[in-house]
Amino acid sequence: MLFLHDAYLRTFEATVVAVREGDGAVALDRTAFYATGGGQPHDTGALAGRAVTAVTAVEKEGDVLWHTVDGEPFTVGDEVTGEIDWERRHALMRTHTALHVLCGVIWNEYGKAVTGGNMEPLSARPPGEARARARMDFEFDPLPAAFGETIEARVNEELAAGRPIEVAFLPRDVALADPDLIRTKVNLIPESVKEIRVIDIVGLDKQADGGTHVRSTDEVGRVRVVKTESKGKANKRIRIEVLDA
Ligand SMILES: [Zn+2]
Repeated sequence: MLFLHDAYLRTFEATVVAVREGDGAVALDRTAFYATGGGQPHDTGALAGRAVTAVTAVEKEGDVLWHTVDGEPFTVGDEVTGEIDWERRHALMRTHTALHVLCGVIWNEYGKAVTGGNMEPLSARPPGEARARARMDFEFDPLPAAFGETIEARVNEELAAGRPIEVAFLPRDVALADPDLIRTKVNLIPESVKEIRVIDIVGLDKQADGGTHVRSTDEVGRVRVVKTESKGKANKRIRIEVLDA
């Protein structure tokens, strides 16, 4: 999973190690394709071997990442060049980082934890329009007055501040002892996981996370709060869009 170490890797060389019966999905010895998980949708792109084949979905099954391909079938041992659709991935990186900034701002201002979230890229849009939309749920009851406007302004301040984003791999006991990680329920990660990947938006938000992020908050652009809504007691939803700065 090359994306865990380098979110900016767009092309890579790999060897086909398995082909799934039935649909012909492909597993590789190494991949830069992100598989759906942690609220972030999969990448799309292409695998070039004897022919160029579109990758339309990527899913994780245990430790295996299956690339759904649309074209000539592959054979175990095939050497391929993978290329991810960067426009889609970069929109998702910007959006994922925006959601962590939102989490950090809400925790610092209100002490409320996140209960869920999701994101979706918006393809082929003209400049000035949203690149992606996302939603996130928090334990508010009720929402504070003027919440949408306040949060939009605070999040955009943090984005414009250009905070660096660092990726670290910590031994489990070190991660569990970090007070900044306790609020994100790092203790719920299965005991079998010995090394915990941490995304640190320096000075704002730290979370155990397997997603892909930009290097600096100013690369996100800006967000617009589209809507806030109640999804029940102690569960309030915030819908945002990610725009160019
Ligand atoms: Zn995340």
